[in-house]
Amino acid sequence: MRIVNSSIESILYDTISPMEKHDSKRIAALIERLGRLLGTEAHADGLLPVQWEALRYLDHANRFSRTAGALTAFLGLTKGTVSQTLKALEVKELVCKQVDAKDRRRIRLALTAKGQRYLRNDPLTKTVAAIETLPEATRRNLSTGLESLLSARLDAEDRQPFGQCRDCVYFARRHPDGNTHYCQLLKEVLAETDADAICAEQQPKR
Ligand code: SF4
Repeated sequence: MRIVNSSIESILYDTISPMEKHDSKRIAALIERLGRLLGTEAHADGLLPVQWEALRYLDHANRFSRTAGALTAFLGLTKGTVSQTLKALEVKELVCKQVDAKDRRRIRLALTAKGQRYLRNDPLTKTVAAIETLPEATRRNLSTGLESLLSARLDAEDRQPFGQCRDCVYFARRHPDGNTHYCQLLKEVLAETDADAICAEQQPKR
């Protein structure tokens, strides 16, 4: 699958002009530089970068996706690394495990109140503040462009998109029984806040 994808990529890449190739390399180099900057800032408050990523994931993921398996798929790391990460966060009392009310064999993860407080000092805050200084049109273009780029890279690696619920093919607005939204895949009622959350089962509308 990967060989097929990479040969398609190389065919597409060979059809673009030298100027466009230059632009593409420059964009990739800018993303790399930004990534390095974020990486050096990500050791904060005694947490490793991956531990911050896990806290952010649990803050953004919907209730169906707050599991160790989904977190492993999101981070693209080994089960062992994610298990160690979660253990460290539990010892620091930032994350806790809860038995699912509907299926007692399932263990869900949740941020503790302390974990939520930690996120107020998220090292990403500086970058969020810098983004907020950009004009609205630039922010919109950046968001659309980066989403497309991430989606292309995840597709090439056969990885799940973990997109927002409201952009999913199974998302139904306004359930007839009076509830706000409904998931046609999981047959579950969704709250307004669920619409913005990310989901392991998300299938983007094309
Ligand atoms: S509608 Fe899609 S994204 Fe939302 S909960 Fe269902 S499967 Fe997940």
